[in-house]
Amino acid sequence: MGIIRQPSSSRQPLSLLPPLLSLIFSLLLFLKAFTTPVEAFTLRAASVAYPIRVAFQGEPGAYSEKALRELLGPHVLAIGKPSFEDTFKSVTTREVDYAVVPIENSLGGSIHANYDLLLRHELHIIGEHEFRVEHSLLALPGVKRDDIKRVMSHPQALAQCDAYLRNMGVARESMYDTAGSAKIIAEQGLRDCAAIASELAGTTYGLEVLDSNIEDDDSNFTRFLLLSRQSISSLIPHSVPAKTSIVFITPDAPGALYKALACFTLRDIDFCKIESRPTSPQLFRFLQFQQRQMRSFGAGRGGEPTTGTGDDHDLPRFRYCFYLDFMASQLDEPARNALLQLEEQSQYVRVLGSFPTKGQLLGPIRESLDLLAKESGEAEGLLMQKATSMAARGPPLKAPDRLKIGVVGFGKFGQFLTKTFTKFHDVSVVSRDDMTSVAADLGVPFFPLYEATEFFRQDLDVIVLSVSILAFEEVLKSLPADSLRGKLVVDVLSVKVHPKTVMLESLPGDVDIICTHPMFGPESGKFGWQSLPFVYERVRIQDNSRAERFLSIFEMERCKMIEMSCDTHDKYAADSQFITHLTGRILGQQGLQPTPIDTRGFQSVLKLVDNTCRDSFDLFYGLFKYNKHSSDQIQRLREAFANVERQLAAKEAYLAARTEIMQDERKKLFAECRTLIREAVAQSTTNPPPPPPLVSPPVSLPPATTTASADVDEDVPPPPTPTQKKKAPRTPPPPSFINPTPPKL
Ligand code: NAP
Repeated sequence: MGIIRQPSSSRQPLSLLPPLLSLIFSLLLFLKAFTTPVEAFTLRAASVAYPIRVAFQGEPGAYSEKALRELLGPHVLAIGKPSFEDTFKSVTTREVDYAVVPIENSLGGSIHANYDLLLRHELHIIGEHEFRVEHSLLALPGVKRDDIKRVMSHPQALAQCDAYLRNMGVARESMYDTAGSAKIIAEQGLRDCAAIASELAGTTYGLEVLDSNIEDDDSNFTRFLLLSRQSISSLIPHSVPAKTSIVFITPDAPGALYKALACFTLRDIDFCKIESRPTSPQLFRFLQFQQRQMRSFGAGRGGEPTTGTGDDHDLPRFRYCFYLDFMASQLDEPARNALLQLEEQSQYVRVLGSFPTKGQLLGPIRESLDLLAKESGEAEGLLMQKATSMAARGPPLKAPDRLKIGVVGFGKFGQFLTKTFTKFHDVSVVSRDDMTSVAADLGVPFFPLYEATEFFRQDLDVIVLSVSILAFEEVLKSLPADSLRGKLVVDVLSVKVHPKTVMLESLPGDVDIICTHPMFGPESGKFGWQSLPFVYERVRIQDNSRAERFLSIFEMERCKMIEMSCDTHDKYAADSQFITHLTGRILGQQGLQPTPIDTRGFQSVLKLVDNTCRDSFDLFYGLFKYNKHSSDQIQRLREAFANVERQLAAKEAYLAARTEIMQDERKKLFAECRTLIREAVAQSTTNPPPPPPLVSPPVSLPPATTTASADVDEDVPPPPTPTQKKKAPRTPPPPSFINPTPPKL
């Protein structure tokens, strides 16, 4: 029974106020830190000023990414999201420009989660694509089909290749994702295991295709939708065949659906799909409210904020939304009239989008793609030209756009960069330790640091400094200054203001300078650099063409190119990269070990520890010492830790106080009830009541002397008679004396 009274304010446990105020204060500080304006920065995509960012659900290489590439081509930036919900949200919140999501499969039917999300998000369908699902069997290079003992994939993919797998006689392992299975095999080096996934997943994770088209049924198609924040219905010319998707809710009356469909059939409008989905009464009310708001907003009036809070018990438990696709644009006259009529007789109608059929694209997306293709085509044409001429001429020759790059510092990161640089340019390396054999493996000449003069005799165009942050100044100043004249010097340090300052101070004016930070390393970039952030500032450039040719290495690898000042970089890097390393190092100190019941979250914690502790301590120290914002992070982490401890203590105190007060309140209330009953009985003895009903509830009184006992549950009074009920105290509201909403843990 919710019979608890509002306690007087004098009962507030004042001891809780200071920690709560401190919590609020910390929250304000936290919000302030995240809303402090930072310098603007620009994103640079492969060849266009701004990339087209498209979200899909899944790991890189997923079928959704393949479908996205078939529809939008190779030049857009495809961003994998862990769930459909996140995929939709990323468009709504402007993190990406578009999303590509599956809506139905020819074998498995509709993807209901996405129908529901279409309803909840204000996005527009602007295109569709029918994608043929072709499964491949993927394994590590060198693994033969006979070596395979088990095959892992998403359960649906395993089911779709049932006959093939039975024939192979292998064990099946269900995984969360097709591409995720390929990733696991690559990451864990599983040689007895194959994955069923797309060929794209094979390319992404360096696996070989053992068999293609292994699905039992070759009519396996998935229809994907392209979603945008902007509708394109007004841009579809009459000559282009169009489709419109709508959702509507009919009244709960006989023939309502028939009448709804008649709006279209009477006007000869073809349907191509109808689907019904149950929806909750709450969602139904919300949709109606939302629609009323939209309409009244359009008419210049305020909404009616009454719905959504009404009594839902009078609504049937199952309300059905009907999703209908018809073959016309919503702006064609017959379709417009059909929609008007449908609106009159439905409780809810929304157009999810009009779009051209058969994978055609129109409007801003078409224009951006054309521009991207043109500019990327030019860049790729250059590369193709180079590749063709190299193939025709045998061993690589020095093409005019081929740079001579010297890498100073051939440690972990220097080697990682060299592997990719050699794809496009001629590279030689210099380092303190003898790295002759590693260099030979990569096919590049090696020079020991004491022979730096020999290294510079090669007429280098670009010198990339990949030494530790701590040694940077010393190494730069030790290089023969004259050998650097007229060259482009690039650093790749994980802090940026420090190398920029040192280079501007020490390098002569005719040396070009670019400060860069590839925000990835051998681990995160082992499957390619696509979509990984590359931050750079052109500090001093005289030879633009050389600088562009160098930057194009990262563009060609499809990095996310972010042009940003060194100062802004350091602010962001302290908030993100340093805190990651700091957390990894701290947790590393705790000696965490895998357990038999590891959750995904814990596995990622272990991975974080492993990744960060694998980097040299010099790197970590450099991040701390040479980024002036890093020490703030340590302080903030301390404060955050103390705040969390305070939150826990506050919650504990709150619960203890609430229990105490509830007991107190219950005791008082029972005592009050007893008094009322006694009064009522006394009254009925002086004024005898009218004759009792045929069956009256027994009245048993609590002992007159009993006051509120400690164990109130055993002292529950009997239900009052109808007359007594009138006088019974009203149920007071629940307590809101400490904190009406207890802190969430
Ligand atoms: P590191 O420990 O930061 O640097 C190791 C490199 O620095 C080795 O080549 C080492 O040469 C050289 N070095 C250290 N002290 C030297 C000295 N006194 N004189 C000459 N050379 C010296 O590890 P790293 O991971 O290879 O990083 C290199 C640079 O890349 C760092 O500035 C780092 O911030 C940046 N970076 C690293 C990553 C990453 O994921 N690791 C990512 C982005 C940027 P020897 O091998 O001859 O000792």
